[in-house]
Amino acid sequence: MTVSKALDRLLVVSNRGPVVIKDTAAGTAASRTVSGLVSAVEPIIEATGGTWISWCGRKAAHPGTGGVWPVPRDEPRYTVRELTLSPQEYRDYYLGFANGCLWPLAHSFVERCVIDSAQWATFQEVNRRFAEVTAGEWCEGDVVWVHDFHLPLVPAMLRETRPQARIAFFWHIPFPSYDLFSVLPWARDILRGLLAADSLAFHSDVYVDNFLQCAARLLKIKIPSQARVIQWQGREINVRALPIGVDAARFRALAADPRVRQRAAAIRRAVGTRYLALGADRLDYTKGILERLQAVELFLEQNPEYRREFTFLQVAVPTRTEGKDYQRLRREVEETVGRINGRFGEQWQVPVRYQFRSLSPEYLVAHYLAADVALVTPLRDGLNLVAKEYVASRIDNSGVLILSPFAGAAEQLTAAVQANPYHPHHVAEQLRFALELPPEEQERRMKILRQNVEQYDLSFWWQSVLDSLAGTRPRRLQPLRPNCPAPSVGL
Ligand code: UDP
Repeated sequence: MTVSKALDRLLVVSNRGPVVIKDTAAGTAASRTVSGLVSAVEPIIEATGGTWISWCGRKAAHPGTGGVWPVPRDEPRYTVRELTLSPQEYRDYYLGFANGCLWPLAHSFVERCVIDSAQWATFQEVNRRFAEVTAGEWCEGDVVWVHDFHLPLVPAMLRETRPQARIAFFWHIPFPSYDLFSVLPWARDILRGLLAADSLAFHSDVYVDNFLQCAARLLKIKIPSQARVIQWQGREINVRALPIGVDAARFRALAADPRVRQRAAAIRRAVGTRYLALGADRLDYTKGILERLQAVELFLEQNPEYRREFTFLQVAVPTRTEGKDYQRLRREVEETVGRINGRFGEQWQVPVRYQFRSLSPEYLVAHYLAADVALVTPLRDGLNLVAKEYVASRIDNSGVLILSPFAGAAEQLTAAVQANPYHPHHVAEQLRFALELPPEEQERRMKILRQNVEQYDLSFWWQSVLDSLAGTRPRRLQPLRPNCPAPSVGL
């Protein structure tokens, strides 16, 4: 799949980028990152050309700018400009303020949110360094596209020195309601940082509404109801929902691939029960894995006739493994799996299978094909690609998606069976409902879901993003700096 329209040169700015750099005894080694953000954004920068400014995973005693890496190496289409972090910055900016304060707050875990002035100071410093490096790369006509909750101050910091820059910002996680966001002592600073962009995008209308409400209440901005344009400090800022789509054609092709289908059949044989339900998530507390297991336990308790007939397989992808919270969660999940299997396992048959690893796309699709039901029940999730990928893979229109209303994707995937992850009884009931759903009703729902996922796929998202980036207005022009590279390579 290719992006059909070239834009002016793009500067993408994100915490993690497409390349991981490691210093080894044999020298410096660069490898590719696998992440949803990279898969979604890379085709756009490949089409426009430009520079991706990111931290590439290296910690340095004296933080600053690291190397410059052409990507791909053989036939470069864009450049990665590396920033390095000191161990203290990594702790206070990344693990601390971003992942220990903003992440839980945005996911409605206010009690987990650590509010620490020193971490906030480091967060500001790192955001400033990203802004300075971006300013150094910026040339007239470039569009700057900043990503996610790690870097919300960059638009305002960049505008201080490049007032005419065209800046877009994509916030990938939930944007919290006013009640939650106002807990943050620096909520206004973050809003001011973001509002220096020309366009702001979120995954759902709920997050757009939350953002507008926070801006109206905390910065006293008058925003007419239903408005998606903010007038502030003499500028116009577009705020919109642009949920990421999946590459539906790729999932369709994988799902039709005979090798993938053979693997799916092998999974079913190995599982051996009549029904299989699947969970596949990073092992993060926001994903509701522990709560899902509790619901499965309840389901088995209340429905003894299913004990020999049903398997639940949880794929738990390792994430932030250095965090104490995450280590504790892993322990609790594994203890819960053991408890359920101890209670309901018989001879060689256990009702819960568990894998702590990441599956390749081909193998993941084989699991999507093998599963009668996908249990996607995050407590809160910016979007959730797994839900869309499951649907995109069900090319024969069978299977049931159980989806939490607290995933951003629920706004689009309305034909899913909804289950409240905070209420294990409800999830257990909906699991039984899903397993007993007649084939024609499965097909009716799955057709509606697939239509949505196919229509609003990744290329639709690219086009919407390009339109929104192109819609950011160029400001007062400034002479081209002599070292600016030639404009983009169009397609
Ligand atoms: N994924 C994967 N291997 C796995 C499980 C998941 O490659 O074993 C991928 C999956 O295809 C999806 C991404 O990880 O694209 C997870 O995205 P999602 O939005 O569901 O959650 P996130 O991890 O971004 O919070």
